[in-house]
Amino acid sequence: MKKQTDHTPWCRDHKGTVYTFEEYFDFMKDFHGYPAPGLIIGGRMVDIALERFPKGTLFDAISETSYCLPDAIQMLTLCTTGNAWLNVVDLGRFALTLYDKHDGTGIRVFLDPGKMKPWQEIMNWFYKLKPKPEQDNQLLREQIKAAGSDIFSVREVQVAPRYLEKRSKGKTTDCPQCGEAFPSNHGTICRGCQGDAPYS
Ligand SMILES: [Zn+2]
Repeated sequence: MKKQTDHTPWCRDHKGTVYTFEEYFDFMKDFHGYPAPGLIIGGRMVDIALERFPKGTLFDAISETSYCLPDAIQMLTLCTTGNAWLNVVDLGRFALTLYDKHDGTGIRVFLDPGKMKPWQEIMNWFYKLKPKPEQDNQLLREQIKAAGSDIFSVREVQVAPRYLEKRSKGKTTDCPQCGEAFPSNHGTICRGCQGDAPYS
């Protein structure tokens, strides 16, 4: 059977390039490895924030979870963790904010539990109501697509001043213990040697 092509737009990027559901699927596979449900949803969340954001404003982004949303933001805007325009503030909430990098006014988009209720397979996935093998991935995607923007709420927010300041690393010095360079305002020895290194 011939696969039907669906040209319905799913999300857009900061330049206004529109992605259909299928085009965004390919983009997710290339960037994220697989089309995770949270990333499908995240694309629409970025789209909602971009739509409400005044055109031409320089913005930074916050993701309130370390799962999926940071990649949706990195795929569709210029905000990345590497350029520090994306802050991952891991509160464990499925929410993102785009905000004016000068005055901190922003648009926060979040997955709204009350609005998710009519979508049983989205509930099964998000609240893990069924073990993963019993979840219906195809139905989940269909419900995400059908729900569109209906499962989110949007609020205007004012981002705290500490996210507006330019990050300054201060002076750099060599660690007397490991010999590698580090910001001197971290202490007399580097954070790695203070016990924060992720190696055993
Ligand atoms: Zn050190």
